[in-house]
Parts: sequence; structure tokens; C-alpha cells
Amino acid sequence: MTSIDEFRTRARRWLEQHAKPFDESADYDMEGSSVPLEESKRFQKALWEAGFAGITWPKEYGGQGRGAEELIAFSEEAADFELPTGPFVIGLGMPGPTILELGTEEQKRRYLPPMLRGEEIWCQLFSEPGAGSDVASLQTTATRTENGWVINGQKVWTSGAQYSDFGAIIARTDPTLPKHKGITMFVVDMHHPGVTVRPLVVATGQAPFNEVFFDNVEVPADAVIGEVDKGWDAAVVMLRNERVAIGAGGRARSNPLSYDSLLELARARGAHTDTAVRRRLALLYARESALTTYGRVLHEETTAGLQIGARGSAAKLAGAELSLWAADLAQDILGGDVVLGGADVERVAAAIVGAPGGATAGGTNEIQRNIIGERVLGLAKDPGVDRNTPFNQLKLSR
Ligand SMILES: Cc1cc2nc3c(=O)[nH]c(=O)nc-3n(C[C@H](O)[C@H](O)[C@H](O)COP(=O)(O)OP(=O)(O)OC[C@H]3O[C@@H](n4cnc5c(N)ncnc54)[C@H](O)[C@@H]3O)c2cc1C
Repeated sequence: MTSIDEFRTRARRWLEQHAKPFDESADYDMEGSSVPLEESKRFQKALWEAGFAGITWPKEYGGQGRGAEELIAFSEEAADFELPTGPFVIGLGMPGPTILELGTEEQKRRYLPPMLRGEEIWCQLFSEPGAGSDVASLQTTATRTENGWVINGQKVWTSGAQYSDFGAIIARTDPTLPKHKGITMFVVDMHHPGVTVRPLVVATGQAPFNEVFFDNVEVPADAVIGEVDKGWDAAVVMLRNERVAIGAGGRARSNPLSYDSLLELARARGAHTDTAVRRRLALLYARESALTTYGRVLHEETTAGLQIGARGSAAKLAGAELSLWAADLAQDILGGDVVLGGADVERVAAAIVGAPGGATAGGTNEIQRNIIGERVLGLAKDPGVDRNTPFNQLKLSR
């Protein structure tokens, strides 16, 4: 037995003892969790203690110091279980890897171990009402003081801000520079009295994301991630990690739009004998397998320290398109029942409603296509007429 096989067997045993197998009849919220936050925290801590959190992160920052093969082996085993780890996905997928790559030694030692142990939850504070796809147009400011910086402004669509302890925020620090240049990334304490989090309720009645207001929020000088005025570079690192986390993450069996789930749904409703449904299920299986293999390659390259470049955008785009495509199939299997509810329908219906969000979160499909067009296919760049103009000379809606 190789060491990877041993790791896989140990992971399987641990999951069988500590995690719930996927249960279709459970009551889930929009983030796919039916579990209270404290229980999620306990689970994440146990996962870390057992050696299955931060599998590829360095040991000195709380990780396991293992390779991509172990990470993939664990993900494959975990796909059969319902892991209540949703609140940690953003921290471990985006700010965590960014701090690992650009943070100071002090930041890595301070923030990464509690993040892995599930003791501190993080969110990503990029989008603003006037800055989504073109996030470099952001208007939140950070002004230098004697001891650090003061942040003022508003963010929006911040997933998980309602329970986050820290956020990675990008703010304008020099408006006399062109829009991509005078930005800085900071660690911000979400419990600071000047931070106000207001939930945004979506069509299902859930509030998975928020508006976040910053009124004279002080951050110390050592809260800067990367370099002052070079926050765009840090943002690009975080967006690259975000696309790998979203696009190359693999699709758990528990995902209501996965091949396994939709096959079960089709069987339960007798639709599995319909030739058209069978053909689409087979296609779903093929597309899902191709995406899993592609994600595996990206994970291996990322863990080996290689730059995957715009291929992260290709994975993110393919994942979003696949979810939309699978949502169509799910609707056809359910027919009119999709609006009538019932234990097995609710979860699928929530995933169908949520699928378009996947084509927007982490950069829209159009933006991913622009990136692939420019950086992979070598097509002409977007004109970007405001690229070299000082930010404070741009005409902006405020
Ligand atoms: C479920 C979900 C979770 C999210 N979580 C977070 C989070 O935690 N933190 C965070 O900071 N943000 C988050 N976001 C926000 C997300 O990053 C933005 O919604 C996204 O970047 C798009 O910005 P926008 O909504 O302002 O749309 P806009 O940028 O206004 O785009 C509107 C439309 O115009 C198109 N468009 C814009 N520019 C171009 C172009 N140059 N070429 C072609 N088409 C273009 C877009 O594709 C889109 O169809 C989340 C969004 C969703 C849906």
C-alpha cells in the first residue's frame, strides 16, 4: 500500500466516524448547510486535529505539509459525505492562500493557524455598488494616520460577512494614481465598532450575502497584505485562488446538481428510463468527469508552485456553465413538481435558483471569457480607455 493509499484509507475511516453521509431529506439553507455555526467550528477543529485541514499548507502555519495527491484523495473520499465546512470555504480558498503567498511572516503565523482550526472565519471584501466586474473602480478609501489607516466606504455581496471575524478588503489609498495603481489590500477586523453588516435577502428568503459599511474603521500599519498601493497585484492573486477554489474544487455527490444526485432523483421519479434524460445524464457524467480531471491537474500544478494563469478562469467558467446546464436537466426531471416542494425537491429547487449566481460570483462568465480571449487565445484587449487616467479625474457615479 502506498502512502497515498494509507492516507486515503485513514481519511475514509475518519469521515465514516465523524461526518454524516449525504442525506437528501435534511433541511438545508442556501449555503448548503443545515448545521449551526458552532457545530461547523467544532467539526473544522476536529478535521484539523485529524490532519485533514490545510493538507497542502506548510506545517509551520498549521498545515499538513502534504502534496496535491493527498488533497485530491481526501476530496474524493469527502465527496460522499456532508461536511459542514461552508463557513470556512472563503477564508481557506481565498484570503488564506493570498496571505500564504504575500503575507508577512507575522501575518502568516497570526492568521493562518486559527483559520485552519475553524476558530476565525474570513470574508472577501472586494465588490462595491459601482465596482463589480471592474473592481478596480472601487471607491472605498483608506487614509493614512499616525498609527495606520482609516477605512471609509461600502462593500456589497459580501458572502458570510454576518459571521466573519476578519475580512480581506481592498481600498483606495492614492486617488492621484490610475485606478489599478493606488489600491491597497488590508486585513480588517469585522468586530470593529465602525463595521456595519446588513443582510441582503435573496429570492429564496435566505441571506447568504451582505452589504458592509465602514465608518472610520481603524486598521494598524501591519494590516497591509502585500505592498501599499500594490493592492491590485494582491487582488489578482486572490482572484486567481478564488477561480481555482470555485472551478477546480470538484463536485461532491451531495451537490444537488451532481450526476449522482440527479441520477438518484431521476430514479426516484421514474425518469431514468426516458431516453432523452438518460442521454443528458450520460453527458453530465462525461462533463463532470472532464472538469474533475481538469481541476485535478490545476491543483497539482498549484501545489507544485506553477502558475496556472488564465486556466483558472477556464475551470471557473466550465463549472458555472455545467451548473446551469445541470439545473436545466433537474428542472426537466422534476417537471411541475419543481414549484410544489416536498422533501426531495426543496434542496434541488434551491440549487436551481442558485445556479445563475455561480455564473456571477467570482467574476461573471463574460469576464472569464474576456480573460480567456485575451490571455489564452491572444485576442485584442478590451480598450480600457480609463486605464491611464488618475482615478480622481475619472467621471464616476457616487
Ligand atoms: C453568490 C455570489 C456571491 C458573491 N460573493 C462575493 C463576496 O464574497 N465578496 C465580493 O467582494 N463579491 C462577491 N460577489 C460579487 C461578484 O464578485 C460580482 O457580482 C461580480 O464580480 C459582478 O459584478 P456586478 O454584480 O457588479 O455586475 P457588473 O459588473 O455590473 O456586470 C453586469 C453585467 O455586465 C457584464 N459585463 C461587465 N463588464 C463587462 C465587460 N468588460 N465585457 C463583457 N461583459 C461585461 C457582466 O458580465 C454582467 O453580465 C458575489 C456574487 C454572487 C452572485
